[in-house]
Amino acid sequence: MRLADNLMPAPLRTPETPRLLKAVIFDVDGVLLASPHEQAWRDALQGYADPARFTTALYQAEVAGRARQDGALAALVALGVKDAQGRARAYAEEKQLRLLALIKDGRVEAFPDALRLVAALKARSFPMAAASASKNAWAMLRSIRLNDGSCFADAFWVAVCGRDLVHGKPDPEIFLTAAAEIGVQADRCLVIEDSSAGIVAAQRGDMTALGIARLGDSKALCEAGADLVLTSLDCLGLTSLLGGRLCGNSAPHRQKP
Ligand SMILES: [Mg+2]
Repeated sequence: MRLADNLMPAPLRTPETPRLLKAVIFDVDGVLLASPHEQAWRDALQGYADPARFTTALYQAEVAGRARQDGALAALVALGVKDAQGRARAYAEEKQLRLLALIKDGRVEAFPDALRLVAALKARSFPMAAASASKNAWAMLRSIRLNDGSCFADAFWVAVCGRDLVHGKPDPEIFLTAAAEIGVQADRCLVIEDSSAGIVAAQRGDMTALGIARLGDSKALCEAGADLVLTSLDCLGLTSLLGGRLCGNSAPHRQKP
């Protein structure tokens, strides 16, 4: 830290100080898209370990949100594969080939609640960014159409997908990059994530974190520090969010995407 930074007064914030939200940063895989990453990792494990051991829990804990090479190494280590370090690159490459094959087969779907939320925020010109470590995320978002014929990807003002960033989650670099590019202060951004690493990243970036527990993993997301955990984006209080506040809503917004 430079001396000048030391002389700057720290921002005053108490738990009561409102942090009005001005933008939403969406994780892609598991929040917007049911993309076949997990299946690709599992299929590619043949020859390294029993693919059946690559469970959803292992994917969420060790791989989700990480750069491909890091995820490959973490998975092989977690599964006790010998020479994990030396074999991680090949495993990552085999996973990528399998993923491309699955995408070509049309194995990418948008979660309906995500389509509804993004369409509702887009209709009100609420700033949104898509942020993913995956180099395939943007192409997958571009492959999906909304009911009005527009491209799902076009709803986002900013995309930080597949960039060669220095750090992966739980480092906040990807979200801080998205916030900077969308032109909104980090502490005014809401990050929507389905992985614990992503929740931690949002917190380290001084952002508000909403956990989406599609896999019954509410406890893990809470323990990671999520400000709120919901099982569906339909349960997000849209009117509150448009006013800058995060809360759940027992009356889901149901407009068609
Ligand atoms: Mg995710």
